[in-house]
Amino acid sequence: MRILIAGGGVGGLTAALALLRTGHEVRVFEQAARFEDIGAGVQISPNGMKVLDRLGVSARVGRDAFRPRAQEFRLGRSGQRIFEIPLRSEAINRWGGDYLHIHRADLLSALLEAVRDLSPESLINGHQVTEYLQGENGIRLKFASGESASGDLLIGADGIHSAVRAQMLGPEKPRFTGHVAWRTVVPIARLGDYPPPETACVWAGSGRHAVTYRLRRGSLANFVGVVERDEPGEESWGAPGAREDAKADFPGWHPVIRRIIDEAPVLLRWPLYDRAPLPKWSEGRVVLVGDACHPMLPFLAQGAVMAIEDAYVLAAEITRSASLPAALDAYERARKPRATRVQETARQNARIFHRSNPFMKLGTYGPMMAAGRLLPGIIHGRHDWLYGQDVTAAA
Ligand SMILES: Cc1cc2nc3c(=O)[nH]c(=O)nc-3n(C[C@H](O)[C@H](O)[C@H](O)COP(=O)(O)OP(=O)(O)OC[C@H]3O[C@@H](n4cnc5c(N)ncnc54)[C@H](O)[C@@H]3O)c2cc1C
Repeated sequence: MRILIAGGGVGGLTAALALLRTGHEVRVFEQAARFEDIGAGVQISPNGMKVLDRLGVSARVGRDAFRPRAQEFRLGRSGQRIFEIPLRSEAINRWGGDYLHIHRADLLSALLEAVRDLSPESLINGHQVTEYLQGENGIRLKFASGESASGDLLIGADGIHSAVRAQMLGPEKPRFTGHVAWRTVVPIARLGDYPPPETACVWAGSGRHAVTYRLRRGSLANFVGVVERDEPGEESWGAPGAREDAKADFPGWHPVIRRIIDEAPVLLRWPLYDRAPLPKWSEGRVVLVGDACHPMLPFLAQGAVMAIEDAYVLAAEITRSASLPAALDAYERARKPRATRVQETARQNARIFHRSNPFMKLGTYGPMMAAGRLLPGIIHGRHDWLYGQDVTAAA
């Protein structure tokens, strides 16, 4: 089949790799002049690593990654630990895959290299998709330059502001979730006595939380700091913000957090958006994956992982189903309940991380602390449905 992919992010490139490996002809059209991602980290949990392993890229992806010792939950001001779940051998033993912290640029280059090895002509930059026209025998994709391309199927992997989704379902904006995130990456060497722990650490506070972890074999610290806001403020995503504003969002917090903000070379500000589950994921010869389809709050660290899972399952269904409609239908049935559950769980995490009432804090964090000490299996088990899934086995 001749498959056109709009968007060369994690979802688009994983789809390209999975489809090339099963013998399809693929073209990925990326609007940017280069395939690249912002300078930030991404956590890839075992369910994502199992897919990357099956696609033969886990060694490349893991080349400069950091393996966190544990997942940790702490209070943002005192740093008091509520619980810790060991992750290194435990992730492999319990969930069947590694848990990695990766620089996004490294993840993208690993996928790009793998696609390029199979088909260098599949990667096309500087092509912004504007619309598609579909008929009985094929689909035509139009670009801002006036050029066009033809194929049998279009995969919309063009992210949260997807032009493909807008044409399929109407030009509805994603909804502002009431959260704004600060993001930065700082060399560990600049953090003196206050490097972040060697864990995936959530720091909880009233109406806000932070996440710290290490990247690039431990040489960099990744920071995401989320605060509740009535308005998104600055419209553009990822615009640099003022250090004083970031500091004012985390007053009196643990020195690990304050030091990262002080040393950050740049602090990017990201209003966070999501969408309600879409009424349909495909129409005719057009189908959506990743953020184009189910953007979510990053509070479960699963947006990129879900895009990876989507891409694999879609490619498997296209390859094995008797017809294209059957494949797209099977894909949506396999993926929608899981992606929707992840979206909902990410939203619930916002409430757990941001408790402000002291009684609610005690009622939430007290039992978590007790379970972490006395019955750690309960805390581990809460992630079995998510990390334990192997979509490559099911597909
Ligand atoms: C603060 C924060 C932290 C996060 N942390 C994690 C994490 O730890 N783990 C995790 O799994 N996820 C995480 N995520 C979520 C993750 O970043 C996204 O879910 C993921 O990048 C989605 O991948 P995608 O390929 O669907 O879309 P994108 O990464 O947005 O890629 C879309 C691509 O399409 C291109 N494009 C857009 N429009 C067009 C067009 N019209 N024509 C051609 N090309 C186009 C874009 O340039 C881009 O390259 C986080 C998100 C945020 C905001």
